[in-house]
Amino acid sequence: MKIENYALYLRKSRADMEAEKLGEGETLARHKKILTELAARKGLHVGKIYHEIVSGETIAARPQIQQMIQDCYNGLYRGIIIVEVTRLSRGNQGDAQAILDCLRYGNNNNGILVVTPTKTYDIAHNQDDEEYMEFELFMSRREYKMIRKRMERGRIQAVVEGNYMGSYRPYGYDILKSKTGRTLLPNPEEAPVVQNIFTWAIEENLTPGKIAKRLSSYGVPTYSGDPEWSVSTVKTILTNPTYTGKVRWNDRMRIKTMVDGKLVSSRPRSHHGDQYMLYDGKHPALVDDATFLAASKRFHSDKTKSGLKLINPLAGILVCAKCGKAMCYQSYPARPETAARYTHKSSQICKVKSAVASDVMDAVAYSLEKYISDFEVKIDNLPEVSEDTILKQMDDLQKELIRQEKKLTRLFDAWEDGLIADNEFADRKAINNDRIASIKNQMDHLEESIPVKEDYEEKIMSFHDALGSLLDADLDADIKNAYLKGILDRIEFSRECNSEFILDVFLKED
Ligand SMILES: [Zn+2]
Repeated sequence: MKIENYALYLRKSRADMEAEKLGEGETLARHKKILTELAARKGLHVGKIYHEIVSGETIAARPQIQQMIQDCYNGLYRGIIIVEVTRLSRGNQGDAQAILDCLRYGNNNNGILVVTPTKTYDIAHNQDDEEYMEFELFMSRREYKMIRKRMERGRIQAVVEGNYMGSYRPYGYDILKSKTGRTLLPNPEEAPVVQNIFTWAIEENLTPGKIAKRLSSYGVPTYSGDPEWSVSTVKTILTNPTYTGKVRWNDRMRIKTMVDGKLVSSRPRSHHGDQYMLYDGKHPALVDDATFLAASKRFHSDKTKSGLKLINPLAGILVCAKCGKAMCYQSYPARPETAARYTHKSSQICKVKSAVASDVMDAVAYSLEKYISDFEVKIDNLPEVSEDTILKQMDDLQKELIRQEKKLTRLFDAWEDGLIADNEFADRKAINNDRIASIKNQMDHLEESIPVKEDYEEKIMSFHDALGSLLDADLDADIKNAYLKGILDRIEFSRECNSEFILDVFLKED
């Protein structure tokens, strides 16, 4: 008897990465255990484990699934074992189609089974399975968007109720999860260290640098078990209101950026008290309000003395249009900030005239305003349809598509059995193919019509945030910079002789 092999496919989803940050442990190791046990219980022989290390959404970005699809076509497997269908594809129509084709025609046209802990799908032979699979692969992107929105709302509500929703525990506390929420418990070893840090800062007037040195010399391990304390770690502790029993929600400070083609959101640190909302937390305070205020005040005054602060809001963004090198922010200590200029001093060969920095900033602000109004015009010109209507239409088209594809199969059968003549077959096949192409075309249009509006709305929001930060004189340059980097790829600067400078703004692609 020939042994039938199964492929085991492992890939992290975005939700898994969230869960890992909440302390859920390593996802793929857990999935591997679940799936190998499942295979053993069902008596399935696992031929190979495809372990996707990259977390790309598309097939093109996932080398392991490419290999697995190839191996399926080469007849190596009877089926694929996965934790859920959407691990195979959660991206675009093209990918979903490639997966469906593989499941239909892989294993020498016998089809590939999909085995999950809840159900086994045989799409090549079972129409219900086929329909379900198409629906799953097809809907996942929209579903994912809705889930993300629900999660976001849930998080804000949880903070308002005093839960601690940070991804990592702050030094000095442990995260306590319970049925009623998620809060912090003082860590018996670290909590006294936090209190010492505050005491030293206030009573002995120690700078964060001196505190870091003292902690290192005392042999107190850091958050990550490192023997060496850094200045920034101490600064972070001295400015974190969590230690006064508060929870914060810095929603306004969130910035989304594309890193290697992935949407990453980050929260740049802010030392301005008004940049986040504070709520009374469920957890006990380690220091009282007066101590915290005194410490953070002290911190503010020595922050301005340090020369390490980023002063150029366009750092890493503004480049020379001719050579691509960064334009330098040149400020003069004896003169007001308004005298600062952007200069090109990195090259002797490439000559570009400098410009007043505040003029450049005004021009950037103006361009952001133009983009915002442009997005608003685009939204106004979108067809007015409700999401429910679109989903309903999509559903109908999906069913029609399946019907037409089945018709095509029957047509082939009839022709092979000699029930219809060649010419009639060719004509009917052409009509049928046209119909299928037209349905797919309509579906593509429909699918595009939903996210577009949301995408523009998200863009408008992030451009508003960036513009607001740029115009806010109280905001640090590093925060402005983080906002701008969230939406801009680069700005090319050019200026010939005494003419006006020209900025070419390149947006981040999404
Ligand atoms: Zn240049």
